[in-house]
Parts: sequence; C-alpha cells; structure tokens
Amino acid sequence: MIKLYGAPVVNKILNDINDKIKDLSEKNITPKLATIRLGDNIDDILYEKSIIKNSNKIGIKTDINVLPLNTEHAILEKLIKKLNNDEKIHGILIFNPLPINIDESQIKKIIKEEKDVDCISYNNIAKLFIGKKPKFIPCTVEAVIELLNYYNIAVKGKKITIIGRSEIVGKPLSIMLLNKNATVTICHSKTINLVEECKKAEILISAVGKANIITDKYINKDQVIIDIGINYINGKVCGDVDFDSVKDKIKMITPVPRGIGAITTMILIKNIVYNAYHLHINNK
Ligand code: NDP
Repeated sequence: MIKLYGAPVVNKILNDINDKIKDLSEKNITPKLATIRLGDNIDDILYEKSIIKNSNKIGIKTDINVLPLNTEHAILEKLIKKLNNDEKIHGILIFNPLPINIDESQIKKIIKEEKDVDCISYNNIAKLFIGKKPKFIPCTVEAVIELLNYYNIAVKGKKITIIGRSEIVGKPLSIMLLNKNATVTICHSKTINLVEECKKAEILISAVGKANIITDKYINKDQVIIDIGINYINGKVCGDVDFDSVKDKIKMITPVPRGIGAITTMILIKNIVYNAYHLHINNK
C-alpha cells in the first residue's frame, strides 16, 4: 500500500507560486487574505490557525475577523461589502456552515466573484456546474484534483465513488470529476447499500466527517482511497477511513493527518497570491 502524502504536492504548489511572490514583493505588494468566522467552532479555529501559520511562513498577510455566533445578518453583510471594496484584500474566506440567523443565499450573492477564493458565490458555482472555468473552485476540491494529478492517478473513464454531498466538498468534487470524464457515484446518509457502492469504486473518496466509518468491507484490493474527513478521537486527528483495517488490502491511500488537509491550505494561499498578481501586475 502506498501512502499519498500531501507534502510533495504542497511543495510543488509553493514552487509554482514562488516567482509571483517575488514579483509582488519587489513591487512592495503583500497578498492579503481576509477570513470571517462566526462563533468558536473548533474545526474553524484549527483551520484558521493553520491558515495564519502557513501564510506567515511565506509572507502573506491575514485579516482575521471573528464575530459572535448571534451576529445579525446586516452586520455580516456590511463587513463583506467593506472587504469586497478594500483593494488591499485579495480574497475572502467565510467559515461554513453559517448560523441559521444568517441568510446564506444573500451572502452567496454579495461576495465578489473575484474575491471568492473558496467558491461559494452563485456566479462561481454556476460556472463550475456548467463546465466553464470559475474564478476559483473550492479549495478542498482543487486539493483532491492536484493530488490526483501529482501522483499521476488518471480519472478519465474511472469508476469513482464519493461519499458526501455537501455544497463545499462532495457536490462540486463530483462535478469536477464528471467534467474530467470519470463515472461518478455520489453517496450520502440515505444511500442504500453503501458497502456495494464503495466496493465497486476504482477511486473511493470519503467526505463524511465520521471517524473510522470506512472499514475493509467497503474496499477492494486495487482501490485508491482519498480520505477528506477530519475527525478527532481523544484529541487525535483521524480521517473517515479506519486505516489499520484497510492498510494491507488496498493500493493507495491519503493519510490523515498529512494528506488532503495540508494541500487545502496551500491552495487557499495560492489563490490569494494569483489574485494579487492578477490585480496588481498582470491584469489580463
Ligand atoms: P457535511 O457534514 O456538510 O457533509 C457530510 C456528508 O456526509 C453529507 O452529505 C452526509 O449525508 C454524509 N454522511 C453522513 N453520515 C453518513 C453515513 N453514515 N453514510 C454515508 N454518508 C454519510 O461535511 P463537509 O462536506 O463540510 O465535510 C466532510 C468532512 O470533510 C468533514 O470531516 C470535514 O471536517 C472534512 N473537510 C476536510 C477538508 C480538508 O481540507 N481536508 C476541508 C473541508 C472539510 P446527507 O447529505 O444525507 O446528510
């Protein structure tokens, strides 16, 4: 079994953006990401920490906005509009899901397409769904695509099963893979016979968020498994896949930690750098 680590993919992306970071720095332009978090969800806080740490490492600034969970919709909207119009901000990331007092559909309308680095705006989503190039695709989705490309895992004609149909991971990932000519099956909590749907897959992708739900009865010996899940058992991070149960019975797997998560943060940073470059240096 081969472990598909995220680190080499992260290094490749870093290499790809190095020239742009240098060009920006020579012109005294610092790429800057704004994040908006409502409340104190632990997953959001950990992702925020990882963003700050990795951005600092390569000289990207962050503008971290934290609002109470019961923030009124109008206050959030005002903040997004301010960030939309701030020339020094090159991307806006809003942690999801938003609390129920926020009208999410309105947020998806007002966030500027060109600052929507995690692809939540209707314009970007629509382009993704009709196979036109959106300004950005969701960072986790792009992380999976980058990983598959890096390790030369072809998807054309392959049977791919995705477990999870969220708007930010499962659904857009299924569309991206469909656009790349894979034969995609999407599963969810109401799927009947999940075991068979998973077993038949040449590539199995899990985005559920439940520790160890994928065991050896869901897999086949030629399978590549991409584990997107981030879960915690006694404070230790783990994926959706029961690693010990499957490790000697599959072809390849992304570990958790040190798999997709690390790439996701780097994709976000790449989006900020590209956007800053596009806005200030090469506006084509
Ligand atoms: P959601 O909770 O929005 O979606 C979970 C999906 O899993 C739903 O479609 C749900 O089905 C399905 N599901 C739940 N239980 C089962 C089950 N027993 N059998 C089959 N399907 C099930 O989560 P997200 O998509 O936002 O995230 C998924 C996971 O990925 C989480 O662990 C999250 O932390 C992680 N994540 C990791 C990232 C990374 O960079 N590595 C980035 C983003 C997320 P239904 O629709 O029917 O409810």
